[in-house]
Formats: sequence, structure tokens, C-alpha cells
Amino acid sequence: MDKDQLETLIIERKLRTALEDGTLQLHYQPKVDAQTQQVVGMEALTRWIDDELGFISPGKFIPIAEERGLINDIGEWSLRTACYQVKEWNERFGTGYKVAVNISPTHFIQPNFLSNVKQTIKETGVNPKFIELEITEESMMESTEHTIKVLSTLREYGITLAIDDFGTGYSSFSFLKQFPVDSLKIDQSFVRDLSTDNDSSAIIAVMIQLGHALGLEVVVEGVEKESELIILKKLEADIIQGYYFSKPISTKEFTEKLEYIHR
Ligand code: C2E
Ligand code: MG
Ligand code: MG
Repeated sequence: MDKDQLETLIIERKLRTALEDGTLQLHYQPKVDAQTQQVVGMEALTRWIDDELGFISPGKFIPIAEERGLINDIGEWSLRTACYQVKEWNERFGTGYKVAVNISPTHFIQPNFLSNVKQTIKETGVNPKFIELEITEESMMESTEHTIKVLSTLREYGITLAIDDFGTGYSSFSFLKQFPVDSLKIDQSFVRDLSTDNDSSAIIAVMIQLGHALGLEVVVEGVEKESELIILKKLEADIIQGYYFSKPISTKEFTEKLEYIHR
């Protein structure tokens, strides 16, 4: 066994334990209205700190979870946790925040995916209009017909759908038109050179227009600077997410933020 295989095995074993022990956490990053800068919702992102290994990023453990058959459990846990949490926040603050949960392609194509989602909604008692599922552009392109069927059913449940990491998967315009989704999340790689490079802003401008032409809400993620925000406001992006407003923060910190907003 080489070093990488050993590392994968250790992470897999520890991740199984973390799932059983309930030591995984969800952090939340605010999504804000680009024009008013008011919080409209949040994205739930899984955080894992292991006693021995320390912080392990999702970029590291999600692919291992996918490969080793743990991603369904993580997906179900994160959806259930986020449903309970957004329900609690909305009831407490009298708000209509929508929580976005990332769904892995492997999870999404499972035969029992839809029934599990339905069950989670029932069990948590959340209004599905406060739930958004983020599915990567890449995963939507795999088996188009099945994907469209699953997406349509989720929408019938009242759930909102977003294409995550938009722009990284080379989908064509006609392809995009077929998908019953509500919003596009432009990948942060397009934001990086925004304030220094004219081509980047031209590309984002086209992506925003494309989204709007298809009747979609356009979210831009990875906004770190005020200069980027100014450009994106001008380009009429709908929603912004990024370190400029806040990093993903714990449930406790997010609750404090909401207490402050609604004081
Ligand atoms: P994503 O869904 O595209 O999430 C956005 C990522 O960008 C998050 O990284 C977030 O912390 C980071 N980010 C947000 N604002 C900024 C910014 O202004 N600058 C920069 N440089 N980064 C920013 P994170 O939490 O490390 O997650 C990485 C990816 O892992 C996510 O990308 C998502 O694909 C996946 N992931 C995270 N949690 C889950 C989960 O519970 N389930 C599944 N299936 N995937 C997850
Ligand atoms: Mg996401
Ligand atoms: Mg993304």
C-alpha cells in the first residue's frame, strides 16, 4: 500500500467514526442580496476536525467519501441538519431564509435519493421552499434524462435548485435550457481576476446575462473584495457570497449574527 492509499484508508475509517459519533459539523456562509446587501439565506458547508489529524477540508474528504460509499450518509446528515436549523432560525426570527445544501453527484443518482429527501422534509417539518439543493454542473451532465426527471420531482416537492460551480463544466446553452433549475452559481474562479482584467468582467457579464435570459437567479460566489462587489452590482448579479461579507461560520456564530441583525 502506498502513502496515498494509506491516507485514504485512515480518512475513511475516521470519517465513518465521525459520522457515527456526530462530530461532523455544518458551518453556514451568508448569501446576500447584491443590491441591498441584506442576508437572504446561507449555504451549509460540512466541517470536520479530527482529534489527531486536525482540520480536514471538504476538498480532501468529500472525494474520499464519494469513493468509499460514505457520501450518501454525509448528504442525508447535512440535509437533515440544515432543515432543522433553517426552520429554527426562520421561526425564531420571523424570516424566510433559504438554506442551500450541496449534493454530491454520486448521492444524487442513487435510486433512493428522492424518497430520502421527501422523508427528511417530512421528518424535520421544514417548509421545502426554504431548501435549496446545489448540484454541480458537472454532475448534471452525466445522465441527462435521469437528471431532468430527478430535478423535476424535487421541484414538485417545492425545493429550489441551483447549478453549482457554473462555468467549470462546459455545458452548452441548449443543454442548460433543458434543466429545470432556479439559479446559477457562477464559480469563484471567474471572480478572481475581476478587478484587474477586462476579459474576466466581460465573461462574467455574459454569464449573468445568460442566466437572466433563461429566467434564472444568478449567484456569484467567492467575492472577497469591495472592488469585485462594485463590478458585480453593476453587472446586475442577484446574490453574492464570499469572504468579503463572511467566511462560513458555526451555527452559534451565525445565530449571533442573526440576533444582531434582528435586534
Ligand atoms: P462549493 O459548494 O462551491 O462551496 C464554496 C466553497 O468556497 C467553500 O469551500 C467556501 O468556504 C469557499 N468560499 C466561500 N467564499 C469564498 C471566498 O470569498 N474566497 C475563497 N477563496 N473561497 C470561498 P469549502 O467549504 O472548503 O468547500 C469546498 C467544496 O466542498 C464545496 O464547494 C462543495 O463542493 C464541497 N462540500 C462542502 N461541504 C459539502 C457537503 O456537505 N456535501 C457535499 N456533497 N459537498 C460539500
Ligand atoms: Mg455549493
Ligand atoms: Mg461552488
